[in-house]
Amino acid sequence: MTHEGYDYIVVGGGSAGCVVASRLAEAGDVSVCLIEAGPNDCDLAEVQDLARWSELLHGELDFGYRIEPQIHGNSRLVHSRGRVLGGCSSHNSCIALRPSAADFHSWERSGAEGWGPDPVSESFDRVVERVHLELGNTANPLTRDFVASAGRAGYSLTDFSHPLFSQPFLSQRRKGGAGWLPLNKRGTRRESSSNAYLHRPGVANNLTIKTLSSVVAISWLGRRARAVVLADGSEIYVERDLVLSAGAFDTPKLLLLSGVGPPDALEALGIAVLHPLVGVGKHLIDHPEGVLIWELDRALPNATSQKYEAALFADVDGNGRADVMLHFGLEAFDLHTAPAGYPSASDAFSLTPNVCYAVSEGEVTLRSGDPRDPVVIDPRYFSDSEGYDERTMLEGFRIAREVVAQTPLADWALRELAPGADLVSDADLSGYLRRTHNTVYHPAGTCRMGAPTDETTVVDPNLRLVGIDNVFIADASVFPEMVGVNPNLTVMMIGERCAALIAP
Ligand SMILES: Cc1cc2nc3c(=O)[nH]c(=O)nc-3n(C[C@H](O)[C@H](O)[C@H](O)COP(=O)(O)OP(=O)(O)OC[C@H]3O[C@@H](n4cnc5c(N)ncnc54)[C@H](O)[C@@H]3O)c2cc1C
Repeated sequence: MTHEGYDYIVVGGGSAGCVVASRLAEAGDVSVCLIEAGPNDCDLAEVQDLARWSELLHGELDFGYRIEPQIHGNSRLVHSRGRVLGGCSSHNSCIALRPSAADFHSWERSGAEGWGPDPVSESFDRVVERVHLELGNTANPLTRDFVASAGRAGYSLTDFSHPLFSQPFLSQRRKGGAGWLPLNKRGTRRESSSNAYLHRPGVANNLTIKTLSSVVAISWLGRRARAVVLADGSEIYVERDLVLSAGAFDTPKLLLLSGVGPPDALEALGIAVLHPLVGVGKHLIDHPEGVLIWELDRALPNATSQKYEAALFADVDGNGRADVMLHFGLEAFDLHTAPAGYPSASDAFSLTPNVCYAVSEGEVTLRSGDPRDPVVIDPRYFSDSEGYDERTMLEGFRIAREVVAQTPLADWALRELAPGADLVSDADLSGYLRRTHNTVYHPAGTCRMGAPTDETTVVDPNLRLVGIDNVFIADASVFPEMVGVNPNLTVMMIGERCAALIAP
């Protein structure tokens, strides 16, 4: 039997995985193998054409993970995850924001030493050297009027392309700001991590990419990863380091299947414990999202790149940071409102408030020891005992209505379709929210980075798996805390830092 081995193996060719694999291959005379469960994205028009991103929801290239019944939230919610080279960066809407410096101070405070604003800023700079950013279609008159009405409501025009946009925004405008969103795209084509890092002239030939290959387990030699095991039972050997980049659901799954996790849970499934780590799968954080929809009094103007080109950030707590973000959408985002019986329309717009720093936490656990079974995902939306998440969301609902009440946007709005203008009390809005909310698809934190002395830490600040010699994690699962903006650029930044930390 041939012995197939590489110096570095990266599992998962998603937002972070493509970055790590490509940078490691560039770094020197080493062999690198990137293993991706889905197909190559190169010739898939539905992936490359950013305008078609929402067609991918619940389709063949989406893992489409169901969640457990929720006590306080919407149990019908499905967590979309790209199953294709580029991962969710081949599936998402390409909103490209850097979090504020304050977010990285908070990462440092929670034990991620060395991840403060200055060092991460260098890694973000490396990302945007590779990943082209541009604004969407700023000519759409309806989106322009949203920005104008937000200004009239006190959320004045803000440049979200600023490297640390929250700083000028919070010091100058206490209520918040609205404006055009930078997108990682070139014209109509998405600038996914695969396009920016892999499908480019001069890509290193010491990088092997295996698509349609799922890793089902890690095999160990003492405290070292010896090989990864593929679904067909074959093994690929790790000569130096293994990097897990399978995302916030599948990275903890692989660790748990391979005997790294809370010992009780592993033993209950008959999985031999290699290393007890209670934090694996815990601390599932996300941005829960509500939706309000208005019917238009005329045809929807169709000049758009991906329908969500502007947003509003609001500091509702007056604590100096934006707590709510509202995306402005050129469609009726009725994924959950229509099944709940609310009317919809083809000429419509939506405002989708999300809680930037939601405090409810969930968890990811194994359903069984069979790698074909998806993990159990229990986000526990709106479960925090103080009710912060729901209260903040309902403030977001009020802001949405306040903005739509201002001209010029008010002139476009024929009627509120969901939840409907007659729904105003907190109790009624809460009922609606719980039946119809979605996620912005930002799950994170399930293998959190922290101080090695903290028992809930899964990776140390060098991204090294605690207790194991040669395994690193680079993806959204390592977030110590949620960032206050859409996270894709931050995930790519983690890919850059991981490569810099372990490159030969
Ligand atoms: C619909 C949608 C819209 C979004 N919109 C935005 C946006 O506009 N802006 C933004 O900032 N963020 C957005 N996000 C979130 C953002 O895209 C993610 O946070 C980010 O891509 C996560 O990156 P990751 O590297 O952690 O995981 P992923 O990008 O999901 O990568 C994981 C990869 O691992 C592969 N994989 C999984 N298991 C295995 C296995 N066992 N073996 C081999 N390969 C495996 C998967 O196929 C996938 O390619 C969106 C997400 C979605 C789903």
